[in-house]
Amino acid sequence: MKLPESKELFSKLKIYTLLDLALMVPSSYSDCRLAGSLEVGKVQTIEVRVIDSSTFGGKFRVTFEHIATARRIYATFFKATAYHYQKFTVGSRHYIQGKLEVYKTYLQISQPRSIKEVGSIIPKYKTAIKESEFKKLIKTYITEVNLYNEGLDSFEVASLMKLHFPTALEEIYAREGGYKDSIVGVLKFVEAYNHIKKLQNKRVDMPPLCVLDNPVDEFINSLPFTLTREQLATIQDIQKDFKNQTKATKRMVVGDVGSGKTMVILASAVMAYPHRAILMAPTSILALQLYDEAVKHLPPYINVALVSQSSSKGDYKSADFIIGTHAILYKDDMPQASLVMVDEQHRFGTQQRAMLEAMVSCEDKRPHYIQFSATPIPRTQAMMDSAMVDVSLITTTPFERDVTTKVISKPDFVPLLTHIKSEIEANHQVLIIYPLVEPSEQIPYKSLQESFEFWDSRFDGVYATHGKDKDKEAVLLEFREKGKILLATTVVEVGISLPRLTLIVIVGADRLGLATLHQLRGRVGRNGLKSWCYLYVNDAKNQRLQKFCTTTNGFDIARLDLEYRDSGDILDGTIQSGQKFVWLDMANDEEVIQKAKDRATML
Ligand code: ADP
Ligand code: MG
Repeated sequence: MKLPESKELFSKLKIYTLLDLALMVPSSYSDCRLAGSLEVGKVQTIEVRVIDSSTFGGKFRVTFEHIATARRIYATFFKATAYHYQKFTVGSRHYIQGKLEVYKTYLQISQPRSIKEVGSIIPKYKTAIKESEFKKLIKTYITEVNLYNEGLDSFEVASLMKLHFPTALEEIYAREGGYKDSIVGVLKFVEAYNHIKKLQNKRVDMPPLCVLDNPVDEFINSLPFTLTREQLATIQDIQKDFKNQTKATKRMVVGDVGSGKTMVILASAVMAYPHRAILMAPTSILALQLYDEAVKHLPPYINVALVSQSSSKGDYKSADFIIGTHAILYKDDMPQASLVMVDEQHRFGTQQRAMLEAMVSCEDKRPHYIQFSATPIPRTQAMMDSAMVDVSLITTTPFERDVTTKVISKPDFVPLLTHIKSEIEANHQVLIIYPLVEPSEQIPYKSLQESFEFWDSRFDGVYATHGKDKDKEAVLLEFREKGKILLATTVVEVGISLPRLTLIVIVGADRLGLATLHQLRGRVGRNGLKSWCYLYVNDAKNQRLQKFCTTTNGFDIARLDLEYRDSGDILDGTIQSGQKFVWLDMANDEEVIQKAKDRATML
């Protein structure tokens, strides 16, 4: 159930669905049930009569008699006000609430409150609006019927009702304090389920411009290698998508660097034939690489054209497969296409991606749309995301890359130099990543500028580039042919292939997220050459980095990243600002998410 948009209160609370509201559980409860017996150490509500009072040194002391047991209980108000004096007159009866303690042999109650009504447990909420207003919302919307209508089962409904309308705290809290496991389980589920339902609602399916069904087997068999199981499965996913007459494809293919996504792109262009396909890549270099691979592997009857700022090949107006950069978006004579693809999609803005789709849409019909991402995501994330866009994962690479990863620090610098020399002698290349271009007081590592002189005076063929460098692409291209050592910032995340690169040093690796480190490490050893990744840090005992050294699988690393998400040493902001869940643990709650997905798809 979507809450009425007009309600100002809901926007103040930043909530949109009934389950958003249900998930705003009380921060605490006030137990106003009358206690049967007196229990020391516990906050209790008891009925008393005032039998004596006195003022001493500004303190107001009251002696109560517990009605049920006739025991005496003493209270001291350190900051007594007129209210206290008027309230606790001798002879008056009260319901008071406070923690019972024993001092010597006397029973004491600290700072008791006099309360009007007894018999219930009162939930306390901390929200952006007045508590009384919030409680009204809860009363109005959080009903069994409404919760059942959301698709929750009887246990989940009962649990949420207990949280908001408690009758016994023993049903909510575990003996050791904290919610009972069963309650936490329900909250996790509801959080996942609510999130998935919201994503589902965002998904709008439109009919395709046309069905695509050109056979692809011949292309697959013509390749110089056998496709991996996951490459084939992904191609099959897409093949199915293309044949759907009512929904245009919306798919995200997620595969690590080197997992062979290009072959999936090419296979898709083949399946689209004789209809036109367009592929957008983030840089001219990448577009050119993709163009070269397309020309090399695609059957000759598919005409390929390249459109980028720096170079164009073929006639895009008549081509079957147009490959280009965002330059494509600014051509006003781009022909109609039935399939659009975006490679390295995270390097484009949402707007650019939407523009591409809109360019070739026709009334309510949409092109088939496939995005490719080299940023592995945890399985749990993929499960969630697939509510909005279909996801194919390619979690393995065609060949194991032989990369040794090590955390190093100052004492290892001389051996590192020796190693760099020997790699260069073997006609290999070296990449050194600095945390920033110019020196900074805030960062305990050398900058690219400060270090350039050191390398340049000792080695030939030293190149440098960084994110804001206008000649970045030219520098990279020249380095690829002639360079020995490239100094850079994280800019080389761009998927340019440097086949002779066998050694990467990442200075200040403790400042980077694991996803970024993984992308950087993905630059070396792409042609099966034995390679090394050195993580240079001031403190080599970094546990997060040590774990990183033990795996090269991007999907494992995405999971590790989740586990270390809150660790303090990540400063580069590369942590995806993904959905923050209160109850759900994305690293470990795969089962809960699966259950929520199953339930949501049943709707
Ligand atoms: P990415 O997923 O990073 O885009 P690429 O498509 O560039 O990866 O593939 C990396 C390299 O692996 C390329 O040289 C490609 O030709 C090669 N390749 C792709 N699939 C296979 C395969 N199944 N077996 C062997 N090599 C493959
Ligand atoms: Mg690629």
